[in-house]
Amino acid sequence: MTVDKMCPCGSGRPLSSCCGPVIDDPRSAATAETLMRSRYTAHVLARWNHLWVTWHPRTRPDLVEEDGLRWTGLEVVRVEEGDDAVAGSGAPASGGGASASGGGAPASGRGAPASGRGASASGRGAPASGSGASASGTVEYRASYREGKRPGVLHEVARFQRRAGRWFYVDGDVLDA
Ligand SMILES: [Zn+2]
Repeated sequence: MTVDKMCPCGSGRPLSSCCGPVIDDPRSAATAETLMRSRYTAHVLARWNHLWVTWHPRTRPDLVEEDGLRWTGLEVVRVEEGDDAVAGSGAPASGGGASASGGGAPASGRGAPASGRGASASGRGAPASGSGASASGTVEYRASYREGKRPGVLHEVARFQRRAGRWFYVDGDVLDA
């Protein structure tokens, strides 16, 4: 057993219950922010394939290559989840913290006969109805890095989209650091 190290994304949680599981299985990212953090961590850990598989097929490059930077810190400035982003994420909460963001469950919920969800007794595992399948989110962040000896900051407003229950990075606007 090795000592579990803290997640590079700065969440204050161990890697094994933060970005680690998302990098192993991108489908487990419940929110745009979770995916964004895992992508940052993938930079730190040089898991370039994770960047590629979580990049929207419409905008991703043929290959994601090493960037030659040493990423040193992440600060999430602002998060906007799309309207229906609250709808049940398909991911069975991994580790305690995950449910924290889920608090906003639609209050009206159960009265609605809408989409027969009764079928799945176990509840949360199933992506409820079609409506929750697509959503969008925006995450503004500042990521610090060093390029050789020169420090720098990437300040980006990144756009994410969920397709078929999975979050993807679409593109972003780079702002002045
Ligand atoms: Zn993390």
